[in-house]
Amino acid sequence: MDLHLYDTYSRSLRRFEPIHADHVGLYCCGPTVYDYAHIGNLRTYLFEDLLRRVLELNGHVVRHVVNITDVGHLVSDADDGEDKMEKGSRRTGESAWDIAGRFTAAFKADMAALNLREPTVWCRATDHIAEQIDFIATLEAKGFTYRTSDGLYFDTARQDDYGYLARLDRTGLQAGKRVDLGEKRSATDFALWKFSRLGEQRQMEWDSPWGRGFPGWHIECSAMSAKYLSPWFDIHCGGEDHIPVHHSNEIAQTEACHGTRLANFWLHGYFLQLDAAKMSKSSGDFLRLQTLLERGYAPLAYRYLCLTAHYRSQLSFTWNSLDAAQTALNRLREAYHSWPAGGEADAATLGRFRDELNHDLNAPKALALVWELVKGPLPPATKRATLSLIDEVLGLCLADWQAASADIPPAVERLAEQRQQARQDKRWADADALRGQITAAGYDVEDTPDGPRLRRAG
Ligand code: AMP
Ligand code: ZN
Repeated sequence: MDLHLYDTYSRSLRRFEPIHADHVGLYCCGPTVYDYAHIGNLRTYLFEDLLRRVLELNGHVVRHVVNITDVGHLVSDADDGEDKMEKGSRRTGESAWDIAGRFTAAFKADMAALNLREPTVWCRATDHIAEQIDFIATLEAKGFTYRTSDGLYFDTARQDDYGYLARLDRTGLQAGKRVDLGEKRSATDFALWKFSRLGEQRQMEWDSPWGRGFPGWHIECSAMSAKYLSPWFDIHCGGEDHIPVHHSNEIAQTEACHGTRLANFWLHGYFLQLDAAKMSKSSGDFLRLQTLLERGYAPLAYRYLCLTAHYRSQLSFTWNSLDAAQTALNRLREAYHSWPAGGEADAATLGRFRDELNHDLNAPKALALVWELVKGPLPPATKRATLSLIDEVLGLCLADWQAASADIPPAVERLAEQRQQARQDKRWADADALRGQITAAGYDVEDTPDGPRLRRAG
């Protein structure tokens, strides 16, 4: 079966065909780096990684662009409130630039732990101020903007199909909601450039034809996707929350500037549901990948858990479901390593596996097929060769895993025991230092539900 993907724009499953013969352009809205990513954010990146791997499985070369939002995302997601970066800076006392650097590094570490492929291009909003200013200047020249006392705004009334992606009912929206518009002409209008407030010293601000200030949150994605892909490219992704505002606004800008609708396919990952308080970065208390690790789960167990649900259905996070995912992953690892190498992959199983994923990335069905393979009658060496190719797409790193082996030096085992004690006593700095000594000795320690597991590094 050819690859079919559900396109939010047309609300239909469509056969995927690339615009250019030699590559697929994929743009994914990246993290706002004022804090750590929570595991909900990571679910969206896991879905995008699966999409990329399935495109590659189908023989495509993917040009994968991910932006880093390090300016302009305001606390309210609308156009007022403080900039998240500047707020983060007040909270921790670091500069907004240091915060961006630190949380970008933390995000990349999470990506590596989850075995997410590196994008072809990373692009930071603050490195592309000139491109954003040029973009806004074109919008202004074409008559799509107006000025208020706090910024330059996009006039959504100029577009008949504004909000089509979200099937926004604009008339209903204007009539039903008695929102305080301030100086905005319509509720859906949004900032392209915000002025630094008089008397306020921002850390991140630039000169522009409209005055000193900073770009609105949406313009970076339209400007950077045009630069690194083109104004019209294959697939644009993000979380479902982006449909009504961020992506609708990206489309509006690009359509006004370039006359194209930005992307041929729009794919959206549905939310990971959790206790609301635990899933909001702004509350400061949320579940990170590191939290799972501290509770003894492997990051890849979370990857496995996300594969058990289709990306277009919401997934409720529970510790029990993570437990089950960790157990299933352990079984899969053990099964894989119990089989001998040297076999040939089973073409029929691989064909079925690809068909499941080509049907709008049906990962739960693909996983069911994996278990059919594990329990089925094929010769063990065939199973291993087949699962090895399947894991190129699932990304569970089965081949790299090593069972706890008997040849760990006693001194390293002692370090691991001391580290475990330090963790139990919540002496985190000691535990980190001990992990450092274990790493220096050439070993990795992985925290599993059965306790720490040591293995030779590399
Ligand atoms: P942010 O760092 O806030 O800009 O968000 C990064 C990505 O995570 C975006 O694509 C969001 O749509 C997505 N996201 C936010 N919350 C969740 C959630 N609970 N589950 C899945 N994705 C989410
Ligand atoms: Zn975006």
